[in-house]
Amino acid sequence: MEELRTDLLIIGAGPGGLGAALYARRAGLDFMIVEKNMAGGQIINTNLVENYPGFKDSVSGFELAQSLADHCRSFDIEILEYHPIESIENISHEAEGKKYSFKCTGPKKVISTRAIIIATGAKPDRLNVKGETGLLGKGISFCATCDGALYRDREVAVVGGGDTAVEEALFLTNLVKKVYLIHRRDELRACDMLQCRAKENKKIEFIWSSVVEEFIGDEKLEAIIIKDKNDGSTRKLEVGAVFEYVGLQPNSEAIKDLIDTDERGFIVTDTNMKTSHTGIYAIGDVRVTPLRQVITAVSDGAVASMYVDKYFLE
Ligand code: NAP
Repeated sequence: MEELRTDLLIIGAGPGGLGAALYARRAGLDFMIVEKNMAGGQIINTNLVENYPGFKDSVSGFELAQSLADHCRSFDIEILEYHPIESIENISHEAEGKKYSFKCTGPKKVISTRAIIIATGAKPDRLNVKGETGLLGKGISFCATCDGALYRDREVAVVGGGDTAVEEALFLTNLVKKVYLIHRRDELRACDMLQCRAKENKKIEFIWSSVVEEFIGDEKLEAIIIKDKNDGSTRKLEVGAVFEYVGLQPNSEAIKDLIDTDERGFIVTDTNMKTSHTGIYAIGDVRVTPLRQVITAVSDGAVASMYVDKYFLE
């Protein structure tokens, strides 16, 4: 098995990992950045990013991701995309005085490193209700930007009440006839600006205090059963697609036995992005943080690289 050696391994090339790489380069660190997919992270699937400073006319998530990656490449940073090491099967550590060395083992490579920045992000959570598994990709989607056009002029549902659900429901109104926004409470979690836009949009019908109980369909989704949480009544709603935006699950499986996480697996860090394990840092959506945005992920990356640099000098 090929063995590589570096001082700092950045795992994940979303906005956080790319921010960390840029600052690691500026600090003159010896580092590698690996990514199991293409560079950019979750924003690749976001139609528009309106709240990243410097882009007053909005920018597509894909363009912003490309721009962040290109900025890194302009500093001669090689982003190892589609890299097998991202699916780390094992991280072993060995104490070296007060510090550690790590061996990160993937299916094809081992990378030995003195420090790790975990920038693996998060993936969409699922509803986990009857009929869901068999209809994934057959009417149940987690990406309106990817799949919305398939349901042009039809009626669809979005489940969730956070920024993602509302943002994607608004995007879908450009394509579909109607969007039912199904939320389990009677008020949204999304920021005020998105809430106002959604409430003004005539193509969005809110279904409050309701949950999806079942997905119906054989080869493709035909309808859903929704339950009103106030009176317990159920009804069938015929929709061509359901877009689930009910939160995120951290991509922390490979590391969670080595470091402290919260009960959902998000990695606990201090304000310097240090985890409970010396030499391991975590940034962006994978960590416990009050705000999960591109701007905060990039900022976490900069902070982490600065503290890795200090750690090497200690
Ligand atoms: P989120 O903020 O965690 O919201 C998840 C939503 O799904 C909540 O409204 C929650 O309801 C609902 N939900 C959770 N489990 C459910 C279930 N089993 N059944 C029905 N509904 C369920 O997740 P998110 O919207 O994906 O956002 C994730 C992070 O990314 C947030 O920090 C968000 O601010 C950020 N983000 C930012 C932007 C932006 O800045 N433009 C865009 C997208 C996302 P409750 O409200 O009742 O808990």
